[in-house]
Amino acid sequence: MDFTESPNVKTIRGIVRAFMEKEVYPLEPVLRQKGFQALLPVLKEKRERARETGLWTAHVPDAFGGAGLTLTEFAHMSEELGKSPIGHYLFNVQAPDVGNMELLMAHGTPEQKEKFLFPLIRGQVRSCFTMTEPEFAGSNPVWMGTTARRDGDAWVLNGHKWFASSADGAAFAICMAVTNPEADPYRRASMILVPTDTPGFTLLGNASVMGERGGDWASHGEVSYQNARVPLGNLLGTEGAGFALAQERLGPGRIHHCMRWIGVSERAFDILCRHVSTRELAPGRLLGTKQIVQQGIAESRAEIHAARLMVLHAAWKIEKEGAEAAREEISLIKFTVARTMLRVLDRAIQGLGALGMTDDTPLAWWYAHERAARIYDGADEVHLEVVARRILRRYGMTAR
Ligand SMILES: Cc1cc2nc3c(=O)[nH]c(=O)nc-3n(C[C@H](O)[C@H](O)[C@H](O)COP(=O)(O)OP(=O)(O)OC[C@H]3O[C@@H](n4cnc5c(N)ncnc54)[C@H](O)[C@@H]3O)c2cc1C
Repeated sequence: MDFTESPNVKTIRGIVRAFMEKEVYPLEPVLRQKGFQALLPVLKEKRERARETGLWTAHVPDAFGGAGLTLTEFAHMSEELGKSPIGHYLFNVQAPDVGNMELLMAHGTPEQKEKFLFPLIRGQVRSCFTMTEPEFAGSNPVWMGTTARRDGDAWVLNGHKWFASSADGAAFAICMAVTNPEADPYRRASMILVPTDTPGFTLLGNASVMGERGGDWASHGEVSYQNARVPLGNLLGTEGAGFALAQERLGPGRIHHCMRWIGVSERAFDILCRHVSTRELAPGRLLGTKQIVQQGIAESRAEIHAARLMVLHAAWKIEKEGAEAAREEISLIKFTVARTMLRVLDRAIQGLGALGMTDDTPLAWWYAHERAARIYDGADEVHLEVVARRILRRYGMTAR
């Protein structure tokens, strides 16, 4: 592996850094005080400016209207964008749209691309991904209650989903539903595209998360499918491929999330260092001179550095050998980086004292919203199990 940043990566980081400082950070106080929806008109205008940087929807190939960055290049960009809660949204590379775009690019029919993918890439619409159900453990991805049955020229969907991020205001959902309950568990479900104006699709509301329901893109919706009919042509990929597509969606997605979390960690670290190097405990006695504070700084630096190298290595392996070959690395980074970010955030809040609990910095906002990092896209325990099982298999253990 080459550790020098390519000229392309340097340029991308430079463009994004300058944009974040000029256009994004000044908006954050409004986000924290009034919420995401209050910012929407100004975000619309900033998204136009982001487009002008040439890095709009940067992970998408040029042929589809994106900036055509490689996974590693996009990982570096994702770190810079992650330094603000709205960075990814401004460049149209926000979850869950990024993953949905990747699925549609790889598996969409020409008609599906025209109707669902291109408006998403152009930033005209948003989408959501409905897989998790309140009544079933999301950690078991092959067990769910939602069904889709064929009826003439249509799929008819019935089921109950929640934590569909950004369902509020989305133009369509990708729905994971059982299409053949008799098949092998890994071949039972399929993915189906459902426009949200389909009769029978209802957004029941947004979940209240850590005291906030949020709205629009910054929300997690509860959704009901009640005899929702969509054409047979809305099947994404082949029938029974739902589980395989869900796995595929998460591979590069974990690189995106993990590098975003590195960005969160870097910003928190920067806030902490700025604070302790000026905060006086007594006249002339800086907080940063305390050994225990210095220990937290050194440990955070080491942990962020190690985490970044792990993610870049995983991205490199996905590029060289594919997501399947990098499965262990993908699980390793998922739980390692989430934990690193939460430790770094906690140390930063502690170092700022009462100020860390206020909304004068982004720390408290992240502390509330990023706790979920250890749960979504596979809870820590699931990834720990994947890694340990694969290792023990190499020692001859086959018991589950
Ligand atoms: C902020 C946020 C955004 C989300 N966005 C989406 C989205 O857009 N679309 C979507 O479909 N879903 C989304 N989800 C749902 C997410 O994917 C699920 O929460 C996740 O898969 C876990 O499922 P669950 O909540 O049902 O927990 P469960 O599966 O019930 O697990 C509960 C806990 O049990 C433990 N556990 C689970 N498995 C094991 C194991 N094998 N061994 C030991 N312990 C275990 C873990 O501690 C886990 O946290 C989101 C969730 C959050 C919090």
